[in-house]
Amino acid sequence: MIDSEIPRDHPRYASLVTRHRIEAGVERGITSKQGLIAQGRGEAFDYLLGERTLPSADAAARAAAAHLLSANRPVISVNGNVAALVPEETIALAGVVGADLEVNLFNRTEERMEAIADHLHAHGATEIKGLTGDGEIPGLAHARGTVDADGIESADVVVVPLEDGDRAEALAAMGKTEIVIDLNPGSRSPRTADVPIIDNVLRAVPNMTAHARELADASPAELQAIRETFDPEATLAAAERAIREGEFADEE
Ligand code: ATP
Repeated sequence: MIDSEIPRDHPRYASLVTRHRIEAGVERGITSKQGLIAQGRGEAFDYLLGERTLPSADAAARAAAAHLLSANRPVISVNGNVAALVPEETIALAGVVGADLEVNLFNRTEERMEAIADHLHAHGATEIKGLTGDGEIPGLAHARGTVDADGIESADVVVVPLEDGDRAEALAAMGKTEIVIDLNPGSRSPRTADVPIIDNVLRAVPNMTAHARELADASPAELQAIRETFDPEATLAAAERAIREGEFADEE
């Protein structure tokens, strides 16, 4: 089945597209089997959040765009789920904010690293980092901490969608400004992030790009104000409230 065969008016269209892309990702050797499990967990939270972008998540995407536009060395980390779900959208975001793309896997195998890099090239990416693996995130076992020295290791702002909690904490300990996209507001990664975006990567990545386009001519002072007024705790609390109280909880 291809995306276009899923009826657009199906009430669970986005969820069916997501499942299908992840399944195709596993078949192509891009997404790991653990990635399938992560997807299942994400889908449950998306259902509880009403499969929509909360106003608080939209504000977080805007703050993320402001951080990326202000960064000296922004890097967007790409794992097997992100590559399967939003390859073009991630490349577009990197282009708009001038970020590098780095393949970064929790379960690193050379085969999968290359399959993802090829997949991104096929979707129009020119330069992909991550394959050199000459840098490290201190405090993590070798394969889990391997990154590029001129990529994530030396980045000042990193976007880590669907990141594992340990690695999110280790990256924060390196002093990086961390932007995490994750549907579970209780997960360690978004709780560690400077900017947690509690939203589906399918919606969050294009939304960050739209905000970045809109802020492209903003002054450094305007970007600073957006960064400084963003409150990560309030974002997490709004998502938790939305899950507990249902549909309109984040809209007062
Ligand atoms: P942690 O280690 O951070 O405490 P975890 O063990 O739940 O949390 P993982 O299993 O490593 O984290 O990663 C899966 C995470 O990715 C889950 O929190 C899940 O909600 C999230 N996730 C899965 N699919 C998506 C998606 N499409 N968009 C956003 N988040 C997603």
